[in-house]
Amino acid sequence: MKKIIIIKYAELSTKKDNINFFIKTLKKNIEYALINLNINLNFDKGRMFIETDDYELTIKKLKKIFGIQKFVMGYKLDNNKFENIEHEAISILKSQKFSTFKVETKRSFKDYPLNSMEISKKIGASVLKNLDNKKVDVKNPDILLKIEIRKDESLIYFNEIEGLKGYPVSTLGKGLLMLSGGIDSPVAFYLACKRGIKIEAIYFESPPHTSIEARNKVLKLAEILAEYNLDVKIHIINFTKIQEEIYKNINHDYLITIMRRMMYRISEKIAIKNNCKVIINGESVGQVASQTLTSMSVINEVVKMPVIRPVSCLDKNDIINISKKIETYETSILPYEDCCTIFVPNHPVINPDLNLAKNYENLIDFENLIKEAIKNEEIIKLKINDKNSNYEDIL
Ligand code: ATP
Ligand code: MG
Repeated sequence: MKKIIIIKYAELSTKKDNINFFIKTLKKNIEYALINLNINLNFDKGRMFIETDDYELTIKKLKKIFGIQKFVMGYKLDNNKFENIEHEAISILKSQKFSTFKVETKRSFKDYPLNSMEISKKIGASVLKNLDNKKVDVKNPDILLKIEIRKDESLIYFNEIEGLKGYPVSTLGKGLLMLSGGIDSPVAFYLACKRGIKIEAIYFESPPHTSIEARNKVLKLAEILAEYNLDVKIHIINFTKIQEEIYKNINHDYLITIMRRMMYRISEKIAIKNNCKVIINGESVGQVASQTLTSMSVINEVVKMPVIRPVSCLDKNDIINISKKIETYETSILPYEDCCTIFVPNHPVINPDLNLAKNYENLIDFENLIKEAIKNEEIIKLKINDKNSNYEDIL
């Protein structure tokens, strides 16, 4: 009897024509996440099977992989003899703590001498006979023991673990996410990644107005998120000159509007250069002056590329709950300020006027400033594994 992890795919059933691509990408992602372990991976259209030298670590890593509906630790027998299945089922259950149980059987091998119901009943009776104080509960059992009869082998497993669901990362191509040190953008990262988008991040910093701690905080967040994204490339843009020019020359009520228009312009250019199809950010409708509908439309006006805002319609509390679940919250609430908060005006405009915004920004030579900022971009690649791989070449 061999230990085995059985993985059920998430949402892939809706992707009839692309199913092979989705499964192959999931396989590549899992192999990459488990690169330092010794694994043996097989798959068919319905499931994936993994044997590994470290089940605990493998399960820990699988919990961060998108595209998995459920997974379970089970046992594989290299035959389907009823006596063997019965014997193994009893010995597996002996090591478990439970009072109630139910047995369910599936037969993909239809020529088996017993039907599914008969197998379940017989194994159930055997459990009652061999283990003390156990009861059958068909509605809400402590343990749901599943048995699968295949042509030359059989599987026994119980207690499925919920996967993260979503699509395997990379299946939808790449997106550029504006990552600040706040609570919202890391959550936006996670949610976009869950839809199969491979994320590259862009961070705008304004040294010396922003500190090295602020940058390190963003890098720490990126490191946490890299586990879901399987590595992450971060584009760091020095925004100081642009920020100072805006501050010196433009009506302070419009500082944030113009500053964000500049961020969007740079993001779109970096996205195009890196084959990212969308911009993603952590804007949430109504949260601050720059996130009113008018502000969002005046800011969005500078780019053609679609902008995805995964947390746009979530309440702050819901965003916080996700950030706690994905373990970015504790880092996000560290005090270091990102560049937006340093130049915050007293009365940021809530309903900016597009023409006024355009007139203001024409007071500065923003095209050249943008060119220079892009030319000076710094790139940091955070890898989840120390071993080198050509994972990025998948796309
Ligand atoms: P967050 O909690 O994500 O920082 P926020 O509520 O503070 O968001 P803003 O500061 O207005 O809101 O920023 C809105 C979004 O713009 C952020 O979620 C992020 O996607 C992007 N953003 C803001 N500042 C930066 C920055 N310095 N670098 C990169 N992206 C940024
Ligand atoms: Mg912020």
